[in-house]
Amino acid sequence: MDQSDIERTVDENINGIKKLLGLEKWEIVFAYGEMDDDSFEASCLARVEYSEAVITIDPNHITDSKHLLRVLLHECCHCLTATFETYKFAVARLLLNDKKSFDAIDEMYSRANEEVVCGICHILEGIHWQKYCKK
Ligand SMILES: [Zn+2]
Repeated sequence: MDQSDIERTVDENINGIKKLLGLEKWEIVFAYGEMDDDSFEASCLARVEYSEAVITIDPNHITDSKHLLRVLLHECCHCLTATFETYKFAVARLLLNDKKSFDAIDEMYSRANEEVVCGICHILEGIHWQKYCKK
């Protein structure tokens, strides 16, 4: 999908998604380009203490606007789980001299975070589907 089309679609839909998720006060900035890990289509770096996030989207991974909206919803949902980062930082301090243990816990944290975000998206897509079918 062309980057200018992606930027336009993001601009048109971000406020609706923020409202849906209760993130109206968040400042979410978008960047476009390749990820460090090419297997990722997008990422979200959220700082819950400042209600700020940077969402990076790789245009090469986005097939169409429907796909983009699912990616956008997913990345915005990471703002909801960002408060758990405080746990991760506390564990990192406790395991400062035990990288192997921290890496194992960090892997578990990342997997759990993704599962929760995917679960939230699944619920929201289900609600949308039911709302759509009532029309
Ligand atoms: Zn994710």
